[in-house]
Amino acid sequence: MHSDSPLTELKGVGPALAERLEKLGLYRVDDLLFLLPLRYEDRTQLVRIGALQAGTRCLITGEVLLAETVFRGRRNMLVRIGDGSGQITLRFFHFSRQQQAQFQTGVHVVCFGEVRRGQSGYEMIHPEYRVTRENQNAVTSDSLTPVYPATEGVQQGRLRSLTDQALQRMHSLPPEELLPAELTKRLGMPSLADAISYLHRPPPDADTRQLVSGTHPCQQRLAFEELLAHYLSLRNLRALAATEDAIALTDGNEDVSAFIADLPFKLTGAQERVVSDILSDLAEPHPMMRLIQGDVGSGKTVVAAIACIKAIAGGVQAAIMAPTEILAEQHWRSFSDWFRPLGIEPVWLSGSQRVGSRRESLAAISGGNAKLVVGTHALFQEGVDFHRLGLVVIDEQHRFGVHQRMALRDKGISAEGHPHQLVMTATPIPRTLAMAAYADLDTSVIDELPPGRRPVSTVAVPEVRRAEVVERVRSACASGQQAYWVCPLIEESDVLDYQAAEASYQMLAKALPDLRIGLVHGRMRPAEKERGMKAFKDGLIQLLVATTVIEVGVDVPNASLMIIENAERMGLSQLHQLRGRVGRGVAQSHCVLLYKAPLGQVAKQRLAVLRDTNDGFVVAQRDLELRGPGELLGTKQTGLPDYRIANLVRDAELMPQVQITAAALQKNSAERATAIVRRWLGGASRYGKV
Ligand code: ADP
Ligand code: MG
Repeated sequence: MHSDSPLTELKGVGPALAERLEKLGLYRVDDLLFLLPLRYEDRTQLVRIGALQAGTRCLITGEVLLAETVFRGRRNMLVRIGDGSGQITLRFFHFSRQQQAQFQTGVHVVCFGEVRRGQSGYEMIHPEYRVTRENQNAVTSDSLTPVYPATEGVQQGRLRSLTDQALQRMHSLPPEELLPAELTKRLGMPSLADAISYLHRPPPDADTRQLVSGTHPCQQRLAFEELLAHYLSLRNLRALAATEDAIALTDGNEDVSAFIADLPFKLTGAQERVVSDILSDLAEPHPMMRLIQGDVGSGKTVVAAIACIKAIAGGVQAAIMAPTEILAEQHWRSFSDWFRPLGIEPVWLSGSQRVGSRRESLAAISGGNAKLVVGTHALFQEGVDFHRLGLVVIDEQHRFGVHQRMALRDKGISAEGHPHQLVMTATPIPRTLAMAAYADLDTSVIDELPPGRRPVSTVAVPEVRRAEVVERVRSACASGQQAYWVCPLIEESDVLDYQAAEASYQMLAKALPDLRIGLVHGRMRPAEKERGMKAFKDGLIQLLVATTVIEVGVDVPNASLMIIENAERMGLSQLHQLRGRVGRGVAQSHCVLLYKAPLGQVAKQRLAVLRDTNDGFVVAQRDLELRGPGELLGTKQTGLPDYRIANLVRDAELMPQVQITAAALQKNSAERATAIVRRWLGGASRYGKV
């Protein structure tokens, strides 16, 4: 926006307050305009005391009938007020002598607070109040009162006064309207300035339910423009890549055909399609930026391997990066098996590697002897110099954010240009979300599983039947199969997480003394984790108790049973990912979702989705539909940017229109497109150069 003035230009803002406001992400006057209230309070009308209802927050006024201080375990000040229609008690636990003196019988007070049922009729505990004269009209506000997101040391009253000032400035110099008039008219959207004023100071008759759920046209207006800005910025990156140089990889078609012919299986039609997308990208003298989306077990790894063959045949190095050591090592093994016959030995690079071995790897990478490098993010840290990096493969990309993706692009840059980039994800996010998250990438979908896979049969079982489930584990393992017992992540706390897994481990060890049981959790050192996983992979352990650390990509075909505890607490997509760890071998696989009864209506429906489908895209779509607005669980995992106003789960249906609008703007009014990006993302795009 145009007013870039620092906050200190506002009345009442000194350096100390400015610093506290920074914690809310507020730097300039205009930032205040985009700090939207979380909810609103209705102080536009006085409610008669006789008409009060418990649980509502209301503005009331009345005359003090009685004020007393009593001891009920602790000191209470009780002030009884009445307005002729009824009476209510104001209750204070903390109060000063001055306050006691204020509440003289006969004075008038105006209060705002929550009405509760007390011991003797209705009460308000610690209401906001003011002692007034009898003139009641002056006490109501003209608009609903906004409640802003709080920050330490900045009171609501202060935020209201600051936004008042910012709004005043905006009115004298309204922001330029950047959306095409045709669009705002067709979608019935208010102007930017109108939307902002409305949301900060809604009129008394505003639909507060709509406002709180974020679906009001004014909120949608702002969300639309913000989504558009992010989308444009990502599209700019895509357009930029088309102008950059890369090494065109045209040789090696015979190597690719020979590799495919030697595989122990035939590629699925979907894999073939995606391979052909990739091969034609690689033949271009501009960097490929392609995303492969494919459900767990759809066979993305082999597709990546084919891209690497092509790259190596073209005389460049290929690197594949995975988010965990376990997964990287698994790739290292697959790639070793596949590439050894071709005389190519993959080189390993990870954070926990010993110094000597690391030094060797680094030398091979910079000298060019390493044709294929497999590792974790250690691959892209300081001190790793590639000789001629031509292809970067990033697996399970949702674990890495947009920013990392951009950082990696620059890692392999040389006089010959950028490396080609292939990113893979098994988080099947709905199409509308994918549009927003991956707008800088071309997308290919592997929408077919290898033949012969039998869908995992899934049941939901209440926790009280745990003994039956334990018995089921025993009999599966007795017949030579292996099983996972997964404990949920508890509120992102490593400690609790670990304790829950530890407790389950103890319980199972006691109940199943004859089984070889292992434990893997997020607090272990990578090497320890690795050892546990490897023992399970090698069949030394029959039952693996684990936290959700096993979520990503681990392949143990002999594991055919998975128990997931507290399944009702987890996101559907996450459950689906976890479940993808079984169903990889010949045996029919089963997944048991243990839940704590009773389940709410939505929770029931959610678990039913997993019972009814094995298709990750359907799961993701249903997840989006069932999740109430405001719950952003899950988007953390998609590498989506942080939005100030938009909420992708809530606003996903705006994306198709955002996409159309972006294309039209880029074609017909490039300056407007640039101005929109600048307004929302600052001078330079947050993702790098525009
Ligand atoms: P993901 O897409 O989840 O990364 P993987 O690449 O790990 O899946 O593949 C899962 C398993 O399926 C591996 O054991 C792999 O060798 C096997 N696989 C891949 N493609 C095929 C195919 N076309 N036919 C049979 N098995 C396949
Ligand atoms: Mg994989």
